[in-house]
Formats: sequence, structure tokens, C-alpha cells
Amino acid sequence: MLEIRNLSKIYPNGTHALDNFSIDIKSGEILAIIGGSGCGKSTLLRLLSGLEQPTRGESRLDGRLLLKPDAQMNIVFQEPRLLPWLSVEDNIGFGLRHLRVEDRRERIQAVLEAIGLAGYGRRWVKELSGGQAQRVALARGLVTQPDVLLLDEPFSALDAMTRTELQDHLLDLWTQRQITMLLVTHDIEEAALLADRIVVMRPWPGRILDEVQMTLPRPRD
Ligand code: ADP
Ligand code: ADP
Repeated sequence: MLEIRNLSKIYPNGTHALDNFSIDIKSGEILAIIGGSGCGKSTLLRLLSGLEQPTRGESRLDGRLLLKPDAQMNIVFQEPRLLPWLSVEDNIGFGLRHLRVEDRRERIQAVLEAIGLAGYGRRWVKELSGGQAQRVALARGLVTQPDVLLLDEPFSALDAMTRTELQDHLLDLWTQRQITMLLVTHDIEEAALLADRIVVMRPWPGRILDEVQMTLPRPRD
């Protein structure tokens, strides 16, 4: 269970980006967060990932206070944000340096296959297309087997075919291992396809406006 309690963020310039945001997210739940630009969606994910500190409030994962970047909470952005001087497998394996070489390689191969990039491990990331690079970013988010995946518009820069394919991969991965996901998206169809619950936010300051529990059967049911 991920418990978010009264999370507020006021940036140094005075922008009140998030106001008293509270929600409980069950283990294995996929929560979509929608709302116009400036609602505080990215701020929420950055606070949960530990990239940014809240002005007030706290979050707990299975009772444990989240204070700094946490191996159990990975974030994937709209842009891949890969390290251009490293190969695909070194980008993905960055968070696995504590593992033995063979174990690391095995994990990387598995995640490359799961995401449709088998055989690409030795490529340089600068040789990849935008869609391939975003697959690598998703693989990097998954490879440490986090409890929670924070997805900030992960598919919105992709062409429609790649987007559908990656949505399918994500659902397959969820079927294998019920990872909790927070998905920020502008795409209502994507939210309806992937999410168990949809939260709608409104800005100035960022708050929850409404919440919809999805009851329709989804592809994974
Ligand atoms: P969203 O992801 O919903 O578009 P953001 O979380 O990016 O919303 O932004 C929420 C508000 O906070 C916006 O008004 C935005 O301009 C502001 N904001 C975001 N990041 C910063 C920052 N680092 N410094 C100041 N204001 C910021
Ligand atoms: P995303 O594309 O994930 O929504 P944003 O565009 O919200 O990301 O933010 C990208 C970066 O710009 C972040 O580091 C954020 O802190 C910063 N930023 C966003 N809005 C503002 C703002 N109004 N003032 C200063 N920095 C901002």
C-alpha cells in the first residue's frame, strides 16, 4: 500500500503546485492521473520519486516513510533521459551494479525481451529511434523490479503504433507481476485502457477534483 498524506509543494518562487494531496493506492493498483497542464501531476510524481522534497506532508510505502530516491519507486519520464555515452545494456543496468555480472546480464536480457528490444543490448543509445529509446527508458524503470512505477506521460511522444505496443507490454508485465503504477497521462483512452482508477486534478493549487473507479472489464481480466 502506498499512502500519500497531505502532500503540498510550494516552489521557491511561490508557485503552489500541489495542495494537501492525499490518496491510498493499493498494492498492484494502476492509478491514472489526468488533468490539464499545471495541475501538479509531474510535481506529485517528482515528490514520490524523491527528486523533489514536499513543503508539507509525507508518503509511505508499506508503512515505510519515503524520504529520498528509493530503489522500490522508479520513475519514467516522457523523454527517455538516457546516458548517451553508454550502451543500451549499461543504461538499463545502471541500478543493478550491486548484482553479480551474470545475474545483471540475465535481468537485462529478460527486460529487453519483455519490452520488444531483444538483441539491442550492445547498441549505443544514440543509434536508437525515439521509440526504441523510450523502450529502453521503460526497461530501465522495470529492471530493478520496483514495487511502484511512476510514469509521467511515458507514451505521449510516441507514434500510435509504438504507443499501443508499449501499452500492451505494460499490461503483460502487470499480469506477470502486479506492480503498482501511477500513470500521468493526457490520453483519456489510455487511462481507461490501463487504469483501475482515474484521478482528475485541477490547478492553482493542484488538488484532486474527482475520482473514478473503473468497473468495465479490461484486457487483462
Ligand atoms: P503538470 O505536470 O500537471 O503540468 P507541474 O507539476 O509540472 O504540473 O506544475 C505545477 C505548477 O508548478 C505549474 O504552475 C508549474 O509552472 C509549476 N512548477 C513546476 N515545477 C516548478 C519549479 N521547479 N519551480 C517553480 N514552479 C514550478
Ligand atoms: P514534465 O514534462 O514531466 O511535466 P515539466 O515540464 O513540468 O516536466 O518540468 C520540467 C522541469 O522544469 C522540471 O525540473 C520542473 O521543475 C521545471 N519547471 C516546470 N515549470 C517550471 C516553472 N514554472 N518554473 C521553474 N521551473 C519549472
